[in-house]
Amino acid sequence: MENCIFCKIINKEIPGKVVYEDDICLAFLDLSQATYGHTLVIPKKHYDNILTVDDETLAHLFKIVKKLSKQIMEKLGADGLNVLTNTNEVAGQTVHHFHIHILPRYNKNELKINFIDHSQDVDLDELLNKIK
Ligand code: 5GP
Ligand code: ZN
Repeated sequence: MENCIFCKIINKEIPGKVVYEDDICLAFLDLSQATYGHTLVIPKKHYDNILTVDDETLAHLFKIVKKLSKQIMEKLGADGLNVLTNTNEVAGQTVHHFHIHILPRYNKNELKINFIDHSQDVDLDELLNKIK
Protein backbone atom coordinates (compact mmCIF):
# COMPACT_ATOMS: atom_id res chain seq x y z
CA MET A 1 0.00 0.00 0.00
CA GLU A 2 1.25 3.46 -0.91
CA ASN A 3 2.67 5.56 1.92
CA CYS A 4 2.74 2.61 4.29
CA ILE A 5 6.08 2.53 6.10
CA PHE A 6 5.98 -1.25 6.63
CA CYS A 7 5.15 -1.92 2.95
CA LYS A 8 8.23 0.20 2.18
CA ILE A 9 10.36 -1.99 4.45
CA ILE A 10 8.97 -5.12 2.73
CA ASN A 11 9.75 -3.63 -0.70
CA LYS A 12 13.22 -2.63 0.54
CA GLU A 13 12.52 1.04 -0.24
CA ILE A 14 13.62 1.78 3.32
CA PRO A 15 16.00 -0.43 5.31
CA GLY A 16 14.93 -2.77 8.04
CA LYS A 17 16.98 -4.95 10.39
CA VAL A 18 15.46 -8.23 9.27
CA VAL A 19 15.44 -11.06 11.80
CA TYR A 20 13.41 -13.54 9.72
CA GLU A 21 11.76 -13.66 6.31
CA ASP A 22 9.66 -16.11 4.30
CA ASP A 23 7.07 -15.87 1.50
CA ILE A 24 4.31 -14.74 3.84
CA CYS A 25 5.92 -12.65 6.54
CA LEU A 26 8.82 -10.49 7.66
CA ALA A 27 10.22 -9.97 11.16
CA PHE A 28 12.44 -6.98 11.91
CA LEU A 29 13.72 -4.98 14.86
CA ASP A 30 11.39 -2.23 16.07
CA LEU A 31 13.13 1.17 15.88
CA SER A 32 12.04 2.11 19.41
CA GLN A 33 13.46 -1.00 21.17
CA ALA A 34 10.91 -0.56 23.99
CA THR A 35 12.67 -3.56 25.47
CA TYR A 36 15.99 -5.03 24.30
CA GLY A 37 15.23 -7.20 21.25
CA HIS A 38 11.78 -5.66 20.55
CA THR A 39 10.76 -7.25 17.25
CA LEU A 40 7.80 -6.83 14.89
CA VAL A 41 6.29 -9.65 12.84
CA ILE A 42 4.23 -8.48 9.84
CA PRO A 43 2.49 -10.04 6.82
CA LYS A 44 4.04 -9.18 3.45
CA LYS A 45 0.59 -8.40 2.13
CA HIS A 46 -0.93 -5.23 3.56
CA TYR A 47 -3.77 -5.67 6.04
CA ASP A 48 -4.75 -2.83 8.39
CA ASN A 49 -4.98 -4.88 11.57
CA ILE A 50 -5.93 -8.20 13.19
CA LEU A 51 -9.59 -7.65 12.29
CA THR A 52 -8.93 -7.76 8.55
CA VAL A 53 -5.96 -10.12 8.13
CA ASP A 54 -6.95 -13.47 6.59
CA ASP A 55 -7.02 -16.50 8.89
CA GLU A 56 -4.32 -18.50 7.12
CA THR A 57 -1.87 -15.61 7.22
CA LEU A 58 -2.70 -14.94 10.87
CA ALA A 59 -2.10 -18.59 11.81
CA HIS A 60 1.26 -18.54 10.03
CA LEU A 61 2.29 -15.29 11.69
CA PHE A 62 1.57 -16.64 15.16
CA LYS A 63 3.55 -19.78 14.39
CA ILE A 64 6.52 -17.58 13.50
CA VAL A 65 5.92 -15.41 16.59
CA LYS A 66 6.27 -18.53 18.73
CA LYS A 67 9.42 -19.68 16.95
CA LEU A 68 11.07 -16.23 17.15
CA SER A 69 9.96 -15.72 20.75
CA LYS A 70 11.87 -18.83 21.79
CA GLN A 71 14.88 -17.88 19.64
CA ILE A 72 15.03 -14.29 20.93
CA MET A 73 14.57 -15.28 24.58
CA GLU A 74 17.30 -17.87 24.29
CA LYS A 75 19.81 -15.71 22.40
CA LEU A 76 19.26 -12.60 24.53
CA GLY A 77 18.81 -14.33 27.86
CA ALA A 78 15.34 -12.86 28.47
CA ASP A 79 13.24 -14.30 31.30
CA GLY A 80 9.86 -13.81 29.58
CA LEU A 81 8.11 -11.77 26.93
CA ASN A 82 4.93 -9.92 25.98
CA VAL A 83 3.23 -10.57 22.65
CA LEU A 84 1.03 -7.66 21.69
CA THR A 85 -0.96 -6.29 18.79
CA ASN A 86 -2.54 -2.83 18.94
CA THR A 87 -5.76 -2.30 16.97
CA ASN A 88 -6.84 1.23 15.99
CA GLU A 89 -5.66 4.54 17.47
CA VAL A 90 -7.65 4.14 20.69
CA ALA A 91 -5.49 1.09 21.47
CA GLY A 92 -2.25 2.79 20.49
CA GLN A 93 -1.90 1.63 16.87
CA THR A 94 0.28 4.13 15.01
CA VAL A 95 1.24 2.10 11.93
CA HIS A 96 -1.81 0.74 10.12
CA HIS A 97 -0.15 -2.35 8.65
CA PHE A 98 -0.93 -5.35 10.87
CA HIS A 99 1.97 -6.20 13.16
CA ILE A 100 2.64 -8.32 16.21
CA HIS A 101 5.08 -6.98 18.81
CA ILE A 102 7.48 -9.38 20.51
CA LEU A 103 8.79 -7.68 23.66
CA PRO A 104 11.43 -9.71 25.51
CA ARG A 105 11.38 -9.09 29.26
CA TYR A 106 14.28 -8.87 31.68
CA ASN A 107 12.59 -7.20 34.67
CA LYS A 108 9.12 -6.15 35.82
CA ASN A 109 9.67 -2.39 35.61
CA GLU A 110 11.03 -1.85 32.08
CA LEU A 111 7.58 -1.82 30.43
CA LYS A 112 4.24 -0.64 31.82
CA ILE A 113 1.09 -2.40 30.72
CA ASN A 114 -1.17 -1.24 33.50
CA PHE A 115 -4.20 -3.47 34.18
CA ILE A 116 -6.42 -1.57 36.64
CA ASP A 117 -9.06 -3.64 38.48
CA HIS A 118 -12.54 -2.35 37.52
CA SER A 119 -14.39 -5.44 38.69
CA GLN A 120 -16.39 -3.45 41.28
CA ASP A 121 -18.05 -1.49 38.46
CA VAL A 122 -18.95 -4.45 36.23
CA ASP A 123 -21.87 -6.87 36.35
CA LEU A 124 -20.30 -9.98 34.81
CA ASP A 125 -23.61 -11.65 33.83
CA GLU A 126 -24.87 -8.53 32.09
CA LEU A 127 -21.50 -8.23 30.35
CA LEU A 128 -21.58 -11.87 29.24
CA ASN A 129 -25.05 -11.40 27.75
CA LYS A 130 -23.83 -8.41 25.78
CA ILE A 131 -20.82 -10.22 24.36
CA LYS A 132 -22.35 -13.59 23.49
P1 5GP B 1 2.07 0.42 17.00
O1 5GP B 1 2.11 1.60 17.94
O2 5GP B 1 1.35 0.77 15.70
O3 5GP B 1 1.52 -0.84 17.62
O4 5GP B 1 3.56 0.08 16.67
C1 5GP B 1 4.29 0.64 15.62
C2 5GP B 1 5.72 0.37 15.90
O5 5GP B 1 6.46 0.58 14.71
C3 5GP B 1 6.33 1.26 16.98
O6 5GP B 1 6.80 0.46 18.04
C4 5GP B 1 7.47 1.99 16.24
O7 5GP B 1 8.62 2.10 17.04
C5 5GP B 1 7.71 1.11 15.04
N1 5GP B 1 8.18 1.81 13.84
C6 5GP B 1 7.63 2.93 13.29
N2 5GP B 1 8.30 3.26 12.17
C7 5GP B 1 9.30 2.35 12.02
C8 5GP B 1 10.32 2.17 11.03
O8 5GP B 1 10.46 2.92 10.07
N3 5GP B 1 11.19 1.11 11.19
C9 5GP B 1 11.04 0.26 12.26
N4 5GP B 1 11.91 -0.75 12.34
N5 5GP B 1 10.08 0.39 13.20
C10 5GP B 1 9.22 1.43 13.09
ZN1 ZN C 1 1.52 -1.79 4.45
